[in-house]
Amino acid sequence: MNRVISNRYTQLAQAAGLSMDPNSGALYGRRGPYDVTVFAPNASYPYALSAVVSAIRPNAPLTKEEGQAFSANLKIVSGLTQNGSVITMSLKSTPNQRKLQEGLTAALDALISFLMQGGFQNCCQSCGRQDVVAPCYAGGAYLHLCPDCYANLQQQVAMNDAQKQQKKENVVAGVVGALIGSLLGVASIVILSQLGYVAVVSGIIMAVCTLKGYELLGGKLSNKGIIIGVAIMLIMTFFGDRVDWAIVVARELGIDFATAFQGISLLLEQEIIEASTYWGNLVLLYIFVLIGIVPTVLGAIRSRKEASRVYCLGQATEQR
Ligand SMILES: [Zn+2]
Repeated sequence: MNRVISNRYTQLAQAAGLSMDPNSGALYGRRGPYDVTVFAPNASYPYALSAVVSAIRPNAPLTKEEGQAFSANLKIVSGLTQNGSVITMSLKSTPNQRKLQEGLTAALDALISFLMQGGFQNCCQSCGRQDVVAPCYAGGAYLHLCPDCYANLQQQVAMNDAQKQQKKENVVAGVVGALIGSLLGVASIVILSQLGYVAVVSGIIMAVCTLKGYELLGGKLSNKGIIIGVAIMLIMTFFGDRVDWAIVVARELGIDFATAFQGISLLLEQEIIEASTYWGNLVLLYIFVLIGIVPTVLGAIRSRKEASRVYCLGQATEQR
């Protein structure tokens, strides 16, 4: 998390009387009788927040009408829903920090008094126990758990982790999967280019599908898999550009696609296709595709690491 974003979370935490978890940026703390966690579903976009409380009402869960009535009273609230015992209050996105701070504080106050009046009781979201509950983080999600459920979860995640470690990686199958996946990226490059665009979205599609393809057929996505995947993305971007040219050449010269594809090097050599145009287009394509690929790959690496992290908010050990 960079400093600007971290500062925003710190300010929000101070305004709302909550603490900030330095690892995830989530805000957490006790508000009246409830444990509250406030987080941005996309941690690097701290303008759209959600607040969660785990609480149950003895007779009936929160109704849709109640949620709508609550949201209608507060400008900043876009929804209030209950799923199991998890009550989620979503806030409207605003880049204005001051508005967000004031809105969040007011919305939390309103939520707490609404829950208290409704007779909701703070509880563990897994077993429903109503004693000590701690806000925690597990694989990118925020949970309110009692000590027993938290220990169980830790154990489960450790077991999954061990199983994953044992899983064998089949590199050859992974490469095949990555190649198949990357074809979707190629298709996106070619289709968009034929429509007259180069777009970052091609890079995102290329990266997501290539890594997913590797993981599906290769069994798991290791560092080796990611490196191979990135190499395939770069090669397939070149290939996609060639396919795009071949379509143009085939159309202009009235020849079939395969001949056109093979003939591109020759056309370049004989300067029928201008070198500056060809390479200029290719560089532009790579820039756009890389803008899509880099954050997608970094995101995949991060979420792979985060998947096995479990801790109580505020008690994270250093990044693994
Ligand atoms: Zn529990």
